[in-house]
Amino acid sequence: APALGKAATSALPRPPTRPAVFVPVHRTPEMQAERLKLPILSEEQVIMEAVAEHPIVIVCGETGSGKTTQVPQFLYEAGYSSDNSIIGVTEPRRVAAVAMSQRVAKEMNLSQRVVSYQIRYEGNVTDETRIKFMTDGVLLKEIQKDFLLLKYKVVIIDEAHERSVYTDILVGLLSRIVALRAQRRRPLKLLIMSATLRVEDFTQNQRLFVRPPPVIQVESRQFPVTVHFNKRTPQEDYSGECFRKVCKIHRMLPAGGILVFLTGQAEVHALCRRLRRAFPASRSQPPGEEDDKDSAEEMRKFKKSRARAKQARAEMLPQINLDNYSVLPAGEPDEDREAEVDDEEALGSDLDLGLGDGDESRPDGGEQPDASLPLHVLPLYSLLAPEKQAQVFRPTPEGTRLCVVATNVAETSLTIPGIKYVVDCGKVKKRFYDRVTGVSSFRVTWVSQASADQRAGRAGRTEPGHCYRLYSSAVFGDFEKFPPPEITRRPVEDLILQMKALNIEKVINFPFPTPPSMEALVAAEELLIALGALQAPPKTQRVKQLQRSRLSCPITALGRTMATFPVAPRCAKVLALSHQHGCLPYAIVIVAAMTVRELFEELDRPAASEEELSALKARRSRVAQMKRTWAGQGASLKLGDVMVLLGAVGACEYAGCAREFCEANGLRFKAMLEVRRLRGQLTTAVNAVSPEAGLFVDPKMEPPTKSQVTYLRQIVTAGLGDHLARRVQSEELLDDKWRNAYKTPLLDEPVFIHPSSVLFRELPEFVVYQEMVETTKMYMKGVSAVDERWIPALLPAYCQFEPPLEKPAPTYCPESGRVLCHRASVFYRVGWPLPAIQV
Ligand code: ADP
Ligand code: MG
Repeated sequence: APALGKAATSALPRPPTRPAVFVPVHRTPEMQAERLKLPILSEEQVIMEAVAEHPIVIVCGETGSGKTTQVPQFLYEAGYSSDNSIIGVTEPRRVAAVAMSQRVAKEMNLSQRVVSYQIRYEGNVTDETRIKFMTDGVLLKEIQKDFLLLKYKVVIIDEAHERSVYTDILVGLLSRIVALRAQRRRPLKLLIMSATLRVEDFTQNQRLFVRPPPVIQVESRQFPVTVHFNKRTPQEDYSGECFRKVCKIHRMLPAGGILVFLTGQAEVHALCRRLRRAFPASRSQPPGEEDDKDSAEEMRKFKKSRARAKQARAEMLPQINLDNYSVLPAGEPDEDREAEVDDEEALGSDLDLGLGDGDESRPDGGEQPDASLPLHVLPLYSLLAPEKQAQVFRPTPEGTRLCVVATNVAETSLTIPGIKYVVDCGKVKKRFYDRVTGVSSFRVTWVSQASADQRAGRAGRTEPGHCYRLYSSAVFGDFEKFPPPEITRRPVEDLILQMKALNIEKVINFPFPTPPSMEALVAAEELLIALGALQAPPKTQRVKQLQRSRLSCPITALGRTMATFPVAPRCAKVLALSHQHGCLPYAIVIVAAMTVRELFEELDRPAASEEELSALKARRSRVAQMKRTWAGQGASLKLGDVMVLLGAVGACEYAGCAREFCEANGLRFKAMLEVRRLRGQLTTAVNAVSPEAGLFVDPKMEPPTKSQVTYLRQIVTAGLGDHLARRVQSEELLDDKWRNAYKTPLLDEPVFIHPSSVLFRELPEFVVYQEMVETTKMYMKGVSAVDERWIPALLPAYCQFEPPLEKPAPTYCPESGRVLCHRASVFYRVGWPLPAIQV
């Protein structure tokens, strides 16, 4: 069994092999005082001795105990970054990598040249860098370049409890790298840090660690948190419920910050707006000031729906006398106040707020709450710009109460100071995939018990706190204990490609902390074989043997090239094929835009009112018109949504990537900025593979010529080939649900072109699509038309060639006869001659 806790680790055999160096750090006295409050400080000795004696150490501690900010400092001071080596820290989230590097630099009184970060698009790493925070994906790429990670003396895998796929893979890889480095007498230390106690997947996994590493448990100074469940069964409108709960807390409970957990960015913004209107902070922070997008329009819609709701309520509840509610802050616009009061009145009575009926049951019995206290409302989610995220760490303005409305990021990655009340909607938004087909959908689901407890724990950091759960204790009892690791929930082709590029051929033997399912592995390997990234097993092997041998196919040269691009394998194939006819610059734009996803703002949302509906409709038709313009006619229209991406990015860059341009044309400004950054990064990656290409990012790129468009169609077909679909012919119509439907090799169900596609009305016979999403129906998004004659040449893996028929139909070439391709439920009849193209 692993050595547990302080006693066990300090009883380990002597002598410690700690580096003798001590690197001084000149912290400010204030900072030093703040550090000393952190529980992990008292464990420094224990942790450092364990690190000195063991190659791998696990550190567990409550969120906020100081793991992320302090452990790298301990290591730095103990000389683990001497001799120009680096202390590496990986984070599953970009937000955390950036924020933590800034925080640690500040604590150590060092510049960001020394304590730096590297995330996918950017970084500030220099030659002087000694502590480097990065996303787990960045370290995985580095392992490809230098398998032994010789730059590093220590690698810290932070937030291991999140079980992100890259974290899992890194733990597996590093368990091997540590052994190899020991053999070479250049030991590497591995620290795994985790918030919750569920470390058995790491410690009890014999394939991962032969000898279980010691686990150091940091006792946290957690204050008690009183958890209040809702009595009622949970309802759909948890956002509204959050709003009411925050209002009640703010009006009735003593000072202390409020942290609200919601599921997504849009919800966070909506609630922030609503709260700011209800409790304006001050003149310097007008409502909506920090909203990054669409605020004017949203606000207008919001006002309208609010007015309608108010009217509806007035009709329903004419007997309520609003004059009785005097707890509201003075000087607020009346219309909103009334509406909010109504909300509370209508729902307040049956809520168990833990507030009871009278003063005596108020949790702290403390000071009289100040109802006119303004609320300092801040959003927090992973895509928020770093400088805006940093606001939650700044002191709250004098005389206001902090209210942070956050997504899951506030659960463990970031600790916000001064939180006393947590409002937990109990939900989380997750992307779900069908493991085999890769069909994805976003779903809002209940969190796990572990997550709910983490969220509650945020309330007890500085003093006893309260957590209001907007669900009943019975529902909580039905939650899963822990969230399942990500690797078991998503397709793994990108991982498998990265691993093969590391020459890990027998993926099946890899020491995953939790292995992906066999189906997912087989599906990934098949896709990679079809894309030409892996060598197909010899044809003679039949299906039964295939499965085992497939899981050990070696990587091809094409696969290696593909693995160097930081994009999904299908997109990487598009890039790898584009080195002809001047297609590369266009392919880079296409792949960047596909990778960033959701270039266009969401216009499918339900409307709350007639006016909102007509505004939405107007906007939809405007965007549809722009898409048609960008798609053009003829060959270019056949490139479909891919052409729209090219046109949109081209037009946007031509307009200087201005926010106004994006807003006017329904493009997400942030997405366009990401496309720009990814374009730069992919251009660099392509230049590294083929320096002779000498590519550069040209914002004012000419549109592709007609023949280039055709080549691009072929390239896209070859890259997305496993996402091929054929329109159901009228003679095949089984019933009405198949009208305008397509068939795909993997699904028995009808699938449709998404209404947002420019090919929605064109209905080409064959299409490839970027992704399939399931909403009311199965929809293909990112659709491009395929010329059927290309299929046998470009996608032989998806065809079965039958011997020539005895009497070939006169329209087909006499030498070859008719070619019939068949796979699963899809039949492709392919004509002749094949097009002459280079692949
Ligand atoms: P853990 O990794 O164990 O969850 P952290 O090291 O992230 O803990 O945080 C330790 C403490 O440092 C927390 O109390 C947190 O509030 C504080 N902290 C972290 N980042 C900042 C920041 N940017 N500004 C102020 N305080 C911060
Ligand atoms: Mg942390």
